[in-house]
Amino acid sequence: MYKAMRAAEVAIWREYLRARVQAKGWDAQRLVRGVRAVPRTLPQGHRWFLLKVHLNAPMTSSRMATVGHGPVLRCAFCRTDGGESWQHLARCGVVLSICDDLFAMGRMPPLHDALPALMLQGDADGASVSATVAVFASIWRVRASCNRLQIVPSLESLRRLVEQSLDCPWLVRCEPTSDRRSRRQARLREPAACPGAAIYRSDGASRGQGIAGDSLGGWGSAVWAPTERGLGEGPP
Ligand SMILES: [Zn+2]
Repeated sequence: MYKAMRAAEVAIWREYLRARVQAKGWDAQRLVRGVRAVPRTLPQGHRWFLLKVHLNAPMTSSRMATVGHGPVLRCAFCRTDGGESWQHLARCGVVLSICDDLFAMGRMPPLHDALPALMLQGDADGASVSATVAVFASIWRVRASCNRLQIVPSLESLRRLVEQSLDCPWLVRCEPTSDRRSRRQARLREPAACPGAAIYRSDGASRGQGIAGDSLGGWGSAVWAPTERGLGEGPP
């Protein structure tokens, strides 16, 4: 039933997206065509980020200022006055300098403005779209951390942070999306009996705690000495 409900709503949401994009002056037909061509391998975290960009949803102080909440802050990277907006971030000299280096490694042309690329207005191939989204999703996360910690990273530090986010996507909640088969394969299984060795048993959890949302991780394990039969299947 949920599947049918979801399918029935697709046309409504597509129209909503079209209207939102067009209201900002972008070509909605191109964007919808681009969304359909986004590679299947694009992680879900990057898809959410892309959707936020398409809906003008990234929460910057510039957006808050338009509804009367505080001033527009400086750019977290180049410290331009009033630069805390998505429009500036997409053209920020510091950000584009890092993009140039990363894109050159992938033999991609340099960007002068990331917004048209993220709004899928060109004819970029799937790999280029994935790379652009990955870089800017990382920059967006790094920006949030810099603002929270009130630090201004040097160009070199920023480059390292972005590279680290790309190398370790779980740091920015953008792990590659696994399908049902790979999830089943990765499931923990009881280890096979191993003669002459004890079998370790362990469990762990990491959940948000209270309203702060901080995660606390924990783990535990138990081990039983091997018996004469060489098994360690449970407490003696
Ligand atoms: Zn800037």
